[in-house]
Amino acid sequence: MPAPRAEVTAFVALGANLGDAGQALREALAALAGLPGIRVLRASRLYRTAPIDSSGPDYINAVVEIATTLTAPALLDALQALEQAAGRERPYRNAPRTLDLDLLLYGESRIQSPTLTVPHPRMGDRAFVLVPLHEIAPGRVSREALDAVAGQPIEPCQPQRG
Ligand code: ATP
Ligand code: CA
Ligand code: CA
Repeated sequence: MPAPRAEVTAFVALGANLGDAGQALREALAALAGLPGIRVLRASRLYRTAPIDSSGPDYINAVVEIATTLTAPALLDALQALEQAAGRERPYRNAPRTLDLDLLLYGESRIQSPTLTVPHPRMGDRAFVLVPLHEIAPGRVSREALDAVAGQPIEPCQPQRG
């Protein structure tokens, strides 16, 4: 019998700006936690940001740390299935979206395939990724990296009442 795969620590970015984006993120978190082969270790607060290379309403963003026995391509498949379940459409690049799940980091792996690049190639340009990532894993984001995106406004959402 093959040995069970060891767990790998990975970080996933969540974003949405259509419909009830905060609710979409909370549901995505719960769905992620329910998937076989994924354990959610830590989730950042939800943050609000204005769209950058995109349009439409403000984005809600978060980052989650998981431990997973899935391979990186299998994890991407699982993330895309959750996007589909949330009604994700891709009419054009950077279109507003009901749910976007990006694989930021997968252990220490560097991956470059036609469908998957890890670390996520644009994460260093984005406050909406670096700020929540820094909240849950300060060792993964340098002061210089945070300073480089300091001009991008981002604020934590107020906690939901009730
Ligand atoms: P961006 O990648 O700049 O954040 P986006 O999230 O809007 O843009 P999508 O339309 O969601 O882009 O994804 C396009 C493709 O990117 C996906 O079909 C997937 O194959 C590919 N991709 C490559 N690397 C990654 C990654 N690390 N995480 C998620 N998708 C990735
Ligand atoms: Ca994205
Ligand atoms: Ca994406």
